[in-house]
Amino acid sequence: MKGYVQIITYGCQMNDLDSRKVHSLLAGDGWMQTESSTEADLIILNTCSVRQKAYEKALSTIGRLRPYKRKKPSLIIAVAGCIAQQKGADIIERMPHVDIVLGTHQLHRITEIINKKRLEKRTQVDTRMNECIPSMDIVPDAEFVTPSHRAYINIMQGCDNYCSYCIVPYVRGKEISRDHAHIIEEIRVHASRGVREIFLLGQNVNSYSGGMGFPALLKSISEIDGMQRIRFTTSHPKDMSDDLIDCFAGLEKLCSHIHLPFQSGSDKVLELMNRQYTRQGYLKLVRKLRAARPDIAFSGDVIVGFPGESESDYQDTLDLIQEVRFDLLYSFRYSVRPGTKAAGLEDSVLREEKQRRLVKLQAMQRKITLECSQARLDKIYEVLVDGVSERNPDQVHGRTTQNSIVNFTGSPSLIGTMARVKVTRANPNSLTGEAAEKP
Ligand code: SF4
Repeated sequence: MKGYVQIITYGCQMNDLDSRKVHSLLAGDGWMQTESSTEADLIILNTCSVRQKAYEKALSTIGRLRPYKRKKPSLIIAVAGCIAQQKGADIIERMPHVDIVLGTHQLHRITEIINKKRLEKRTQVDTRMNECIPSMDIVPDAEFVTPSHRAYINIMQGCDNYCSYCIVPYVRGKEISRDHAHIIEEIRVHASRGVREIFLLGQNVNSYSGGMGFPALLKSISEIDGMQRIRFTTSHPKDMSDDLIDCFAGLEKLCSHIHLPFQSGSDKVLELMNRQYTRQGYLKLVRKLRAARPDIAFSGDVIVGFPGESESDYQDTLDLIQEVRFDLLYSFRYSVRPGTKAAGLEDSVLREEKQRRLVKLQAMQRKITLECSQARLDKIYEVLVDGVSERNPDQVHGRTTQNSIVNFTGSPSLIGTMARVKVTRANPNSLTGEAAEKP
C-alpha cells in the first residue's frame, strides 16, 4: 500500500464523477481511501470556480491544510479541477505547501504525476489543454459507483457558448464529445454490474457530436438490456432540437424530467448574458416538451441581479417562473467571475438588492414546489429505491421518473429495485407514500 488518500470535491456532478475516477485510478496504484486529513498521506482537492462561493471555499480549504503539511512534511497536497486550470502555477506561488496542480484535461495523469512528485521531490504543474480528454474514457470501479444501481457517464466536456457570466469555457476548454462507441461500451459494463439508471453528463449535452447526434445516442442507449432509466444534464435551450423533444415522446426509458436552465426571463438580460434564445423561445420549448411528455417535470437555473437587471426585468423572471412552474429551481445571486465578458459590465445591482430579489424569488418557488408535490397526492409512481431513510430506519427513499424524492415504509432489500408507491403526503422538498399493489 502506498498510503491513504483523501479527496475533497467541490461543485457539480461532473467534479463528483471525476473524483470517483481518480479514486479508481489511485486504488489501482495502491492508495487506500480515507476521510481524515490527519490520516491522509495524499490530499486531492477537486475544485470548482463556477461560483464565487465554491471558489472561496476551495481556496480557504487549501489554506487550512498548511498545518497538516507542517506536521507531516511527506504529505502530498494536489489541487485539481477548475481552479487548478484557471490559476496554474500561481497556486503554488501563493500557497507553497501545495505540491501538485493538475488541470481539467490532465486528470488521467494523476498517478503518474504523484509518482513523479514522490521520486523527483519537486512540485508538478500540468494545465495543458488537449484535443481529446482521456479521463472521459475512464470507467470507475464498481466500488466507486454509489449507489450501485446509478452511474454517471461523461459524454462530452467543455463548452463553446461563452455565456457572458460563465467561466466554464475558459477552465474546461472547448466542447469535446466522447466517441459514442466508448459511451455505449461503458454503459454495457455498468448494466452487467447491475446499474439500472444512468445519468449522462456534459456542460451542454444537446450539442453532443461524438459520431452521432444526442437524440441518436439516446436511442442507442435505450436499446441496452437491463438499463431501465436514462437521465441527462445539462441542456442548453438554444440546442434543444425537435428530434430531442421527440425522444421524450418515443423513448420510454427516458425519464420524465429535464433540467433546462433559463437564467433570466428578460430578453434584454438574456442578450447581455449571450444566451442566444428569447423568453418566448424558451416558453415554446416548455410547451413542446409538455406536448411530447405530458407528465414531464422541469428544473432550472436562474441568476438574479445580473448587471443591468431592472425591477421590470426581474419581474419578467418571476412571471416566467410562474408560467413554467418548475418542480425545482437552483437560484443564485450574480457574482462576477474574473476573466469573463460580464466582468467588464458595471455590477449595477447592489448586493442588498440582489439578496432581496433572491429571497422573494425563492419564497415564490417554495410555494410552487409544494404545489407541484400536492398535485401528485393519491397518484401511483414507479420509484427506483436508493437507500434507507436517514430519519426513519423503517423507511426507504427513492426517486420517481420526475426526479421527486419519495419516502415510504419498506425493507432495505428493495434498494436498487423499482417499487410502486402511492403518494400520501406532500412535504416541502419530498413526498411520502405507501407501497402500492402491482397492477
Ligand atoms: S452553456 Fe453557458 S452557462 Fe453553460 S457551461 Fe456553457 S458558457 Fe457556461
